[in-house]
Amino acid sequence: MEKYVYLFHEGNGDMKELLGGKGANLAEMTRIGLPVPNGFTITTQACNAYYESNKNIPTLVEKQTLEALSRLEEKMNKKLGDPKNPLLVSVRSGSVFSMPGMMDTILNLGMNDETVAGMAILTNNARFAYDSYRRFIQMFSDVVLEIDSYYFEQLLEETREQKGYSSDPELTSEDWQEVIKGYKEIVKKHTRKDFPQDPKEQLFLAIKAVFNSWNNQRAIVYRRLNKIPDHLGTAVNIQSMVFGNMGNDSGTGVAFTRNPSTGEPILYGEYLINAQGEDVVAGIRTPQPIATLKDEMPGVYQQFAETCHCLEQHYEEMQDIEFTVERGKLFILQTRNGKRTAQAAIRIAVDMVKEGILDRKTAILRVDPDQLNQLLHRRIDDRAERKVLAKGLPASPGAATGMVVFDADEAEQLGNEGKRVILARPETTPDDIHGIVASQGILTSRGGMTSHAAVVARGMGKACICGCEALKIDVRAKQFKVGEMVVNYGDVITIDGSSGEILLGEITMIDPELSPEFQLLLAWADQERKIEVRANADNPVDAKKAFEFGAGGIGLCRTEHMFMDLTRLPIVQKMIIAENHDERMEALEQLLPMQQGDFEGIFEAMQGNPVTIRLLDPPLHEFLPDKENLLVEVTKLQILDPQSEELKKKEKLLKKVRQLDEFNPMLGLRGCRLGMVHPEIYEMQAKAIFNAAVRLAEKGIEVKPEIMIPLVGHVNELKQMRQLVMEVANQVQISTGKTIHYTVGTMIEIPRAALTADQIAEEADFFSFGTNDLTQTTFGYSRDDAEGKFLQAYIETKVLPDNPFAVLDQEGVGKLVETGIKLGRITNPSLKTGICGEHGGEKSSIDFCYRTGLDYVSCSPYRVPLARLAAAQATIRHEKNEVFTTA
Ligand code: ADP
Ligand code: MG
Ligand code: MG
Repeated sequence: MEKYVYLFHEGNGDMKELLGGKGANLAEMTRIGLPVPNGFTITTQACNAYYESNKNIPTLVEKQTLEALSRLEEKMNKKLGDPKNPLLVSVRSGSVFSMPGMMDTILNLGMNDETVAGMAILTNNARFAYDSYRRFIQMFSDVVLEIDSYYFEQLLEETREQKGYSSDPELTSEDWQEVIKGYKEIVKKHTRKDFPQDPKEQLFLAIKAVFNSWNNQRAIVYRRLNKIPDHLGTAVNIQSMVFGNMGNDSGTGVAFTRNPSTGEPILYGEYLINAQGEDVVAGIRTPQPIATLKDEMPGVYQQFAETCHCLEQHYEEMQDIEFTVERGKLFILQTRNGKRTAQAAIRIAVDMVKEGILDRKTAILRVDPDQLNQLLHRRIDDRAERKVLAKGLPASPGAATGMVVFDADEAEQLGNEGKRVILARPETTPDDIHGIVASQGILTSRGGMTSHAAVVARGMGKACICGCEALKIDVRAKQFKVGEMVVNYGDVITIDGSSGEILLGEITMIDPELSPEFQLLLAWADQERKIEVRANADNPVDAKKAFEFGAGGIGLCRTEHMFMDLTRLPIVQKMIIAENHDERMEALEQLLPMQQGDFEGIFEAMQGNPVTIRLLDPPLHEFLPDKENLLVEVTKLQILDPQSEELKKKEKLLKKVRQLDEFNPMLGLRGCRLGMVHPEIYEMQAKAIFNAAVRLAEKGIEVKPEIMIPLVGHVNELKQMRQLVMEVANQVQISTGKTIHYTVGTMIEIPRAALTADQIAEEADFFSFGTNDLTQTTFGYSRDDAEGKFLQAYIETKVLPDNPFAVLDQEGVGKLVETGIKLGRITNPSLKTGICGEHGGEKSSIDFCYRTGLDYVSCSPYRVPLARLAAAQATIRHEKNEVFTTA
């Protein structure tokens, strides 16, 4: 018989898949003797069984739930629905992966007209009892009966006004009873039924609601965003209540064992006195920092600090802990691994090694390479003049500039149009998630460091400022005021999530540097990794950056970027439209010293490390004006100035553009085909490279040029181009009297090349897999068309698991890579292999490259640190016999 329900003491921390993260951790904390209120967990399997039974709770699940309830009642010596001594419970969802704020918790379940009276007598606190009851009606109505909480809020507000109160604690027991009456009427009006009074009915309705919430809109969006599979299901935790709203010796709070923004090893969090449940996270009242608890309740603080330490040692991870104090007694309601910024993740991993909690390898695995992007981004230049509008809580570091918008839908729309926006809201809720995704940064006027906006922004690595109370946001008027100053929809502001400052206009930003902890972690990573990391760089500036970030060479230097330069383009065009050999050579002569200068700069920046230079790749028409524009200009001139020289020039250009026009440029005269047809272009480039090498050798800098022939499909192409390069090298060596050490290789980016790699390797010193083109040619997609037209839909409907241009398609394109390497090494055992293209900076692709035996990956300079870490992780995982997973 399947076991669908586990009492907390029957489970443990390893049972996340079955009990969900929250349930497994509640069980684990119970097991190690922490003060956790008693309860039980209904498994994720029960959730799946519920869906398999067409959204009915299976009998077995019902039976086991009732049994567990009886055991809980025995333990608590209370009974659900007993008017004299009622058991009250919370009903909490919890899936394998934490989905913050995605599903709502119901507190105080078991309250009804009778038990509320019992609670009033039992606690000798009628006000508390009725406050709890009304909270329950409101939450239950919202989550289970799906009545908008707006109606309840409104009634509460009317009551407050009527009585002349300014806050909830002023309401008396009688006031709450009146509110409850009104609440029940709202329920009757919306559901045409009375509010359910039978606690068992309440319980099962709540369980169903949790199961249903697994498939609500915001849960689905969150899962898609975080690649959490849909079939996992959620568990339900039923737990006896403890009360933080029993007076001023009670309260509730949230804390991290270390600072989640910076990683600093001190308790970090906030709490509210005389409050329950979500009051802290909801951002309705601004809470107090945890440090003040030390003064207010020294004993509780001491116990809490010890518990935090114990949990961190136990889990060997920074924890995010929810707690409640009931009449001076501490209860722990939740613990989980805390979400953190990249900066904090690094600091914590490094500190934990120093503290002896982790070994280096584990520490390396703890930092998600994707997250490092945050640190490798730009931030506000300290020297820039700052017109500070206001200051809020620095909730998620980094800086962002954009137009202010006040609505998540608008943020999404503008974001999709490519505009940079900052979403400003009084507070955010899970319903704003799509707007947060589309924004550069988030700004709220209410809520603390653990509010929804803060948690979500940190997770996404976006700048966020919270609780900026100086900001008077008027969502309807689409503006906010700071004193007299008005900022309207569309105005540009900059937010600095590291300092909490809101600035008017756009501010100068500076490039990132690596912190000492980051460098230490990367140094550890370098000791572990067995695969080289290079960078793609086309100019000396990028090459320098790459070198600073630890690149061991350049894996791809695209020479066409040197042709696009505005001062050179006219010469390049001259070369293209040349009518005879002499004219063409004249233009090439002019280009030669320019290219040579570029190469010298790059070689110098790389200080003796290998540099792979790809000869010209794109079709020539890319360097000429657009055909349609040109046609318009020619037509105009034919009418206005038919005799002009200008017209003759333009007509000649148009003729050339037409000649070069292709049905499908992606598959046309490009790559080495260009060199085959116009060898003089490749000759010039090779000459520039070798001249530069000689020049640097004279300066005492050793250079290792690796000359790469693009888009080879047949070995004969490579044979011929290699011959050409070698002849140029010989000429330069003879004329300068210097020996140059160089290699010639090719890009493998056409399936035929991979399939005949044994032949090709006989002519190549190295292979570099150009996985961008290889993906295009393997799938038969042109990337621009695919990404613009159907790829998004393919991913959403799960036709494809990922965008194959971002995450290497291991089954298809990957198979060609494997084949290429295997065949290539048969005829050329010393063949050097690498991958260039975006995949070289993506963690799962790097893992693949390591497993497949590539010598190096090459990626954008800003991703080099990320790739170094990912490469180390691949090695460590391999040693531990673990496979790569996204979670
Ligand atoms: P989330 O996953 O959104 O954090 P939780 O299930 O942790 O949802 O519940 C939110 C809050 O509800 C908790 O932080 C806690 O304050 C309160 N809560 C949950 N269960 C109990 C309980 N048994 N007694 C008192 N408060 C509870
Ligand atoms: Mg929680
Ligand atoms: Mg290519």
